[in-house]
Amino acid sequence: MGATPSFQSILDDLYDRYKSFNDGQVASYIPELAKVNPDLFSICVATADGRVFTTGDADQLFTIQSIAKVFVYGMALDDHGRDKVLAKVGVEPTGDPFNSIIRLDEHSKRPDNPMINAGAIATTSLIKGNGPTERLNRMLDMFRHYVGHDVYIDMSVFVSERSTGHRNRAMASLMRHFGMIDDRMDESLDLYFQQCSMMVTCQDLAVMAATLANCGVNPLTGDRAVPGCYIRDILSVMYTCGMYNFAGEWAYKVGIPAKSGVSGGIIAVVPHQLGIAVFSPPLDSHGNSVRGIKVCEDLAQQLELHMFDPPMGCSHILERIGHEQ
Ligand code: GLN
Repeated sequence: MGATPSFQSILDDLYDRYKSFNDGQVASYIPELAKVNPDLFSICVATADGRVFTTGDADQLFTIQSIAKVFVYGMALDDHGRDKVLAKVGVEPTGDPFNSIIRLDEHSKRPDNPMINAGAIATTSLIKGNGPTERLNRMLDMFRHYVGHDVYIDMSVFVSERSTGHRNRAMASLMRHFGMIDDRMDESLDLYFQQCSMMVTCQDLAVMAATLANCGVNPLTGDRAVPGCYIRDILSVMYTCGMYNFAGEWAYKVGIPAKSGVSGGIIAVVPHQLGIAVFSPPLDSHGNSVRGIKVCEDLAQQLELHMFDPPMGCSHILERIGHEQ
């Protein structure tokens, strides 16, 4: 019988297996994103007890895009509590694309969930603060706790999003009309475009995911990023809505809470165990990273990470990693 492969070698093998997998298209509807090198690829894992494993372009900076929605939702919950947030943003998966506007109608008024653009604009509008600078600084400060260092906004992506985001602006106007967001609409839209344009590395994303796995405390710094009582809200919407109109298939096949973004990042959270991050820009028709999905499906299968894998297999992962590092 061969020895159990080291955790690092599992990640290295996944990297080798999928690096020449060339399906998918880099997002181009935000002009700045179209310039990215499609070959960039990284897989990183951070454990809930603070170890970090990396492969590939782990230090490459890119904009976080929709993955920010997860953390801003946590901030809205922290600022206002569950009931007020739930009154403005639902928790139902839509089965529609991430930028869909069709369900924002007279009947529903409220966006379906905080993981799609409409819902994220609504949660962003809930960020407290006196004027745009204070609100932006509070948001960057929140991200800093998750990442463990200062974070910056890519100005060219921000300007690119702001000048082409007519659909997002239309959703905000509709929600303003329905009374779901307040009259700081333009300010909140800027804050939405800014959060999407925040720069992270794949390693940063793994640490952010591990912070969620570790009940809201960054396992590298010991800093609390979000009250532990909101972790279950955040992970629930990630599980049911985080992969847009692929969320059902993801829950079925991979079975762990996750969130993707159009720049090619995916985070996945194994509660109390791991934060997983993959970065690879080419996307499928849902706007999810093609290699990212392949890697997560493969890793979940190898390590029995699915929440409903018998006998609740994922609780053994930290033991399996043993004393590596
Ligand atoms: N900034 C992007 C947008 O508003 C985010 C979308 C995404 O990552 N799915 O369309």
